[in-house]
Amino acid sequence: MHRMYENDDITVFWDSDKCRHSRVCVSGNSAVFNFARKPWVMLENGDNKSIWQIVERCPTKALTVTYNHDVKIVFEEENKRSVAILNGQIIGECDYALTPEGFDIFHTEVHPGHEGKGIAKRLVFKVFEAAERSRQKINATCSYAKKLLES
Ligand code: SF4
Repeated sequence: MHRMYENDDITVFWDSDKCRHSRVCVSGNSAVFNFARKPWVMLENGDNKSIWQIVERCPTKALTVTYNHDVKIVFEEENKRSVAILNGQIIGECDYALTPEGFDIFHTEVHPGHEGKGIAKRLVFKVFEAAERSRQKINATCSYAKKLLES
């Protein structure tokens, strides 16, 4: 399972396949990280600096974090894609097709000048979440999404 937790400044990613339930995160701040609750991550209960430090202590990298750089990620079901928006402009997208086997992510792109800011990962996680929430299988022919799926 892939989940993304966002506030205005940061995005925390969680890949449940990598989580070994060592509870380092819960010990760090149980108001933010609490497996007994849904959603289990509530960024509004902590400050960004301490959340970042706790995420960095996750021993398996099930949790990772990035700055948002004022970029919003929006899921567009009607267009079968997620888009990255900065100042009203689309600066990246992740496209998928619906097949009998489920979601097939075939293209992820971040426009030149915006690479290296975690935008592609946010785009792909947005589609992962949508697929998983609708109980669809995920296949990725896009090499970047495939890497995230299999890592
Ligand atoms: S610290 Fe990482 S591996 Fe441990 S419970 Fe939290 S997310 Fe899972």
